[in-house]
Amino acid sequence: MERKIDVGILGATGMVGQHFVKFLQDHPWFRVSWLSASDRSAHKKYRDAAQWHLGGVTPEYVADIVVEECKPGSAPKLLFSAMDASVATEIERAFAQAGHIVVSNSKNHRMEPDVPLLVPEINPDHLKLIPVQQQQRGWKGQIVTNPNCSTVVLTMALAPLKPYGITRVVATTLQAISGAGYPGVPAMDINANVIPFIGGEEEKMQQETQKILGDLEVDHIRPLPAQVSAHCNRVPVVDGHTVTISVELATKPDEAEVLHALNSFRSVPQQRRLPSAPERPVIYMSESSRPQPRKDVERERGMAVFVGRLRRCPALDFKYVALGHNTVRGAAGAAVLNAELMYTEGLLDG
Ligand code: NAP
Repeated sequence: MERKIDVGILGATGMVGQHFVKFLQDHPWFRVSWLSASDRSAHKKYRDAAQWHLGGVTPEYVADIVVEECKPGSAPKLLFSAMDASVATEIERAFAQAGHIVVSNSKNHRMEPDVPLLVPEINPDHLKLIPVQQQQRGWKGQIVTNPNCSTVVLTMALAPLKPYGITRVVATTLQAISGAGYPGVPAMDINANVIPFIGGEEEKMQQETQKILGDLEVDHIRPLPAQVSAHCNRVPVVDGHTVTISVELATKPDEAEVLHALNSFRSVPQQRRLPSAPERPVIYMSESSRPQPRKDVERERGMAVFVGRLRRCPALDFKYVALGHNTVRGAAGAAVLNAELMYTEGLLDG
């Protein structure tokens, strides 16, 4: 690429916003040139507005950028959104209406019928909803979303098995503290403890999984006709959501076929060699005690989903475990991969 594409970040000072800043540093196609946050942060230099929560110090390449208000006007066309969910609906809509391409992490628009809920390895064809969205809403811009941080782990682990006909899924999460943003869960609650409730998370996992693994039908998505049941728990892990999965499959493959499907899964991002795509999106680990968040979550830049412990399930057909990086593959990295796919589809032109 001769000249990088300027990009902005909505909600740049928050936890996910900082992951965007970190993930986009040295990106071969995109250059962060605009940052925004609430009026508490606006008009300050990024280094003063954002209390840096990740390793090291505020990256120099953004440190002196003055944070803007979240209003269309001076922003570049392509925007990554890490907006607080309480304000994302209106702000993201205003930018899309003003002609911006909003690649969002927020839950707000994910389940709207004309908004792609994109995982580039699973449903790249769902981008065909964009003309429908623009026509129905009269927008020049658009909104594309990535899933909830647990859903992406579950769907990446299920996608290789879709050809066998997924009919029922039971998934139990062990979710990291960083998924709750900053300052997140009080230390007194989470230290040496498990919290068996994350508000709204089970519903999101169930519905988003059906949409992501669903099929495009001209102007809408027909959800995957599978029953999906999620149990969500917060555990004292810093980064990395683990999901244990039991799945029922219509065509009853044997264990070797399922293992082969998981191991050989590749898709459009790998074929197109997108810069943030892991070489293998699903990596099967044969050691009986893996994957583990502390040992595996940072591998492959946090962009792969690690699976293991495949075995027969006495209740459904198979059970196994999956692990993914919740703030990378579950947030910033997912959105950047979405934008890379959109670039190769010609959707960022102009
Ligand atoms: P966060 O740390 O609370 O950051 C929220 C961001 O939104 C900050 O930049 C904040 O700016 C900005 N903001 C708040 N109110 C605003 C307003 N009225 N106008 C403009 N900007 C405003 O939250 P987070 O954990 O990064 O999460 C951001 C989004 O990503 C949420 O929608 C969340 O659900 C989603 N998400 C999070 C994760 C995760 O693992 N944490 C994973 C997937 C998706 P100030 O700093 O100026 O207040």
